[in-house]
Amino acid sequence: MDLIHPHTAADVADVMRAANAEGRRLAPIGARQHIDRARLGDVDAEIWMTLLDRAVAYDPAEMLCVVEGGMRLGDLRSMLREGGQEWPVDEPEDATVGGVIAADVALPRQLRVGLLRDTVVEMGFVTGDGRRIRSGARTVKNVTGYDLHRLLTGSLGTLGVITQVALKLRPLPKATRTLVTREVGLGLARRLLDAVPLPAAVVAADDRTVLRLEGWPQEVAEQAAAANGVTVMADDDPVSWLGPTVPDAPNVLQASVVPSRLETLLDGFDRYRALLGVGYAWIGCDDGTVEEVQRRAATLGGTARAIRGAAPPQPLDPVIASIHQRIKSAFDPAGVLPAP
Ligand SMILES: Cc1cc2nc3c(=O)[nH]c(=O)nc-3n(C[C@H](O)[C@H](O)[C@H](O)COP(=O)(O)OP(=O)(O)OC[C@H]3O[C@@H](n4cnc5c(N)ncnc54)[C@H](O)[C@@H]3O)c2cc1C
Repeated sequence: MDLIHPHTAADVADVMRAANAEGRRLAPIGARQHIDRARLGDVDAEIWMTLLDRAVAYDPAEMLCVVEGGMRLGDLRSMLREGGQEWPVDEPEDATVGGVIAADVALPRQLRVGLLRDTVVEMGFVTGDGRRIRSGARTVKNVTGYDLHRLLTGSLGTLGVITQVALKLRPLPKATRTLVTREVGLGLARRLLDAVPLPAAVVAADDRTVLRLEGWPQEVAEQAAAANGVTVMADDDPVSWLGPTVPDAPNVLQASVVPSRLETLLDGFDRYRALLGVGYAWIGCDDGTVEEVQRRAATLGGTARAIRGAAPPQPLDPVIASIHQRIKSAFDPAGVLPAP
């Protein structure tokens, strides 16, 4: 297997065009943190993106930065910290900006910071047949055409290689606090969600319940008081917060359902981490229960995708599958990049 290390977007385009001419299959790689979720299949070469790691522009006053797709989250965080800002993604330091966007990771603090795809305002990428495309704009008023950068978000390297992005930033919170109780249950987590105004996250896990608070010091103190009106919670390390860590199990499925259906989704499972109010749950299961989780999520109108283990992809509705196929043919007609 060849490993290719491009330095520029033009290098990536050259690599893609050569692969089309030679009939080779390639997969873009960030930092390989994807556990087992990205099903790259058999490829002839991997394009390692970590040398495209430059900061192209950063002006804190604009609350926007432009960086290359291979920049590591740790480097991005250090740069933004200097400006008192953050890109609110809580993935590991080694993960790359392009990998995080291609995986469309769930933001554990979504209640407060919104969706990952809304933070990506402009993107440069190279299609499977080697065309260099720019989508979106750094200022909202300049946007015309289709939001292709939204299509690329979550595309897991199947449509193109992300070479550069402009990211909308947030001010770093003035105060943060993580409160924990060993009392468990979705009922308790829901009472916390109802009682605490604007929490960053309420996590219901099988062994604890966690409340993440962020904001102005006075606001955080008031939120903590409201939480302690529901149950007694102790302070945990506020810095090492990484969101709901994945359960320890041979298979982990990341399920997404309407928030009110979380209880039904998790009924009977005993290894999970769930994000209240946003409807995400990471469910640990043995080989025998994978299909049951996927079936239940589908019945509830949601999805359950493996992020660890060998669970098969959920079958797609035929109409959606045919749309996927048409989009794939437009971006990657020769199938150089991994299949959806
Ligand atoms: C503790 C822990 C928890 C995690 N929780 C989650 C989770 O909840 N949900 C989740 O989805 N992931 C999760 N992950 C996996 C991982 O952190 C993310 O998927 C991360 O975004 C991967 O970044 P990466 O740079 O390592 O990309 P990689 O793992 O190298 O690649 C991820 C995918 O993106 C594609 N890709 C990479 N770079 C590019 C690029 N520049 N252009 C186009 N495609 C590209 C790859 O082909 C692959 O399909 C977790 C990881 C850890 C260690």
